[in-house]
Amino acid sequence: MIARCSIVLVLAACGGAAPRPAPPAPAPVAAPAPAAAPETKRPEPTAPASPPTLSVRPDPAYIERTDGGQMLHCDIVIDNPAAVSRTITRLQVTAHDASGAIGYRRFIDGNGVSPAILTVPNREVPANGKILLFNPMPVFPQDLDITRVRFDIDFGEGPERTVSASVEVAPVVYQARARLQIPISGRMIVWDGHDLLAHHRRWDYLFEPIRAFGFVSNPARYSYDLVPVDATGAMANGDGARNESWIGFRAPVRSPAAGTITMVVDDQLDNRQFDMNELKRDLMVVYGNRIVIDHGNGEFSVLAHLAERSAKVKVGDKVRAGQVIASIGASGSAMFPHLHYQLQTSATGTAEGLPSYFNGFSRIRGTRRIAVSAGQIDSGEIIEAK
Ligand SMILES: [Zn+2]
Repeated sequence: MIARCSIVLVLAACGGAAPRPAPPAPAPVAAPAPAAAPETKRPEPTAPASPPTLSVRPDPAYIERTDGGQMLHCDIVIDNPAAVSRTITRLQVTAHDASGAIGYRRFIDGNGVSPAILTVPNREVPANGKILLFNPMPVFPQDLDITRVRFDIDFGEGPERTVSASVEVAPVVYQARARLQIPISGRMIVWDGHDLLAHHRRWDYLFEPIRAFGFVSNPARYSYDLVPVDATGAMANGDGARNESWIGFRAPVRSPAAGTITMVVDDQLDNRQFDMNELKRDLMVVYGNRIVIDHGNGEFSVLAHLAERSAKVKVGDKVRAGQVIASIGASGSAMFPHLHYQLQTSATGTAEGLPSYFNGFSRIRGTRRIAVSAGQIDSGEIIEAK
């Protein structure tokens, strides 16, 4: 079940499209100079370029099965050992099946009037620095056997020179062991989920101000902000600055599956903020009032931004699926009352996120209601749960 990452590095001209750089001119041989003559400066020999190294996180990387395809929400760490900065100019992803045969390949580059490469932010890798790249092409066909995925990245280095680097990953199709249900009842919108454009997905844990707190991963990689709505889709009535205006404020929060309570915090105010000084001591303070449930098998649910003094369980309690454990609040890093939910690998802020799938809910598609026995949800969907 462990993905094996192998790093394949090549130094190459860019696909033959760019002219190869001319070989360096031989260094002139200085004639012996009279002892009194000033020293002649010899040109520096041209050092061989050290291409960036790539690695994939998390390890293992997971495949999430959705109605819209198979998703590979991994990150690529790009480490540039050179004394010059490099700029990403082309990125290609290739999937192979168990036999090694190619099943899918696509790329983004600088071709066209408004090239696709411009959709990738932060393309510059500083000299002797690292950046995190969110896999910009995470969607694969539903029926594809994905045994091995290869990323090839070209970097520009000056007007003509291109260096290339590659990395391969063997992603794991993740099926949560816990049988999960949506942790709130009624109609709600997945205000933000974990697709490529969702803020949970775009958690750059190599960005220095984030890294400095001790973040090393993305526990929210597969998370959801669930916001109760009325029949028109409205989340609040009246002044949104007041928590009481929100339809879901103080609505019951339920355990998504059976498990044991491992963390309960409910003494934070519903004031939509947290103490940055506390963050240095505990990465979980961003979640405000929170309950963590251990489902066994290395799966932990985090239910966050709960209402002040709303916890109905304590550490060590056994809970069953659907049991009311707290209420929706606006504590911690919350813009307004909602429930943030995620499944992760441990009870700490350095965990990695895990794909989660829910049983027994409906998708609301305008006037249509589609019953789902088991499925994934993501940004923008309106759903209903019992
Ligand atoms: Zn959230």
